[in-house]
Amino acid sequence: MGPEDEKKQETKQETKKPERVYDVKDGVNLTSVSVVNKDGKTAIVTVKFENTDSDKHTSDNKVQPSLKTAFEGAVKDAAKKTDLTEITISSTTNGNHGSEKSLHYEGKALDISKVNSKPVVSIGDADPVKSIQTAFQSQTGRRENMGPSLMRCAGTADVKSQKTIDDHKNHVHLGVE
Ligand SMILES: [Zn+2]
Repeated sequence: MGPEDEKKQETKQETKKPERVYDVKDGVNLTSVSVVNKDGKTAIVTVKFENTDSDKHTSDNKVQPSLKTAFEGAVKDAAKKTDLTEITISSTTNGNHGSEKSLHYEGKALDISKVNSKPVVSIGDADPVKSIQTAFQSQTGRRENMGPSLMRCAGTADVKSQKTIDDHKNHVHLGVE
């Protein structure tokens, strides 16, 4: 086998295993959010990022601008009603998700694992999780809103699958169209 053949083989292997792209085209990074809190004072809700276990990749990736807008709108609205200082995002385009069609891969969904440093699973259907999910429901373009407080897919449809309900007890999944 000559050097040319070896080169061809290398190229073939590269096409077999395309490198996963985490930043969506024309996307934007999520950032901390400036809000007016429930005492009427300007404050910052810090946004933190985690790595997913499945691919050891950070959640700080470029997402669709419409997701950022809906997320920030929900954070601002929730901060008016409840103490909200910090949101930890475990996944945007990173991680492996149940369905190939998951909005995560298109940069249209994010998962929140902790709020105010507390795991979502320990907060459950209480504030601040409740206020975030309620606020996201009235944002433009919101599609999926699944977590301990609400289980909505495609806007207003209730999720019926017990597995999907159980899968969203430890995080809030927010997705846009
Ligand atoms: Zn998700």
